[in-house]
Parts: sequence; C-alpha cells; structure tokens
Amino acid sequence: MVKLGTVSFKARCDRHPGFDPNDGRGGIRGGCKRCELLLDIHDTHMRLMEMIRKARNEMDPVRPKAAAAAADERQTLLF
Ligand SMILES: [Zn+2]
Repeated sequence: MVKLGTVSFKARCDRHPGFDPNDGRGGIRGGCKRCELLLDIHDTHMRLMEMIRKARNEMDPVRPKAAAAAADERQTLLF
C-alpha cells in the first residue's frame, strides 16, 4: 500500500516574484537558481499527479471502460 499525505507549499523568488512555472524554462531570467528550483518542484508535482491519475485508472477497471465508451460515442457523432 502506498499512502501519501497532503502537502501544501507556497513560495516565490525574491528576485523574480512574477515568475510563473507554467512559463517553463523560458520564463527564468538570468539562470536564477531559485526560479529553477521552483520550476523543478512544480514539474515534479505535475508528474506525480499524472502518475497518481494513471495508477487510479489502471487500478479501477470501471473508469477506463466508461471513458472509452464515451470517447467512442463522441467519435461516431462526428460522422
Ligand atoms: Zn528568480
């Protein structure tokens, strides 16, 4: 069993308070190490959430079937 706790984290770079991790590496000015660390934390969190979604879908056989059926239905509506 894998059990994860809730983590709440807020941080911003003192030099670049407007940095938005959604802008990616291109949003980092002057190779700022703090912004790079915030981006790494953000990207790692996004990957973790994606892995959890994937694991839930694989371990719950009802959800993927329902999603696939809905996708098939939508596809036929296009023709
Ligand atoms: Zn910065």
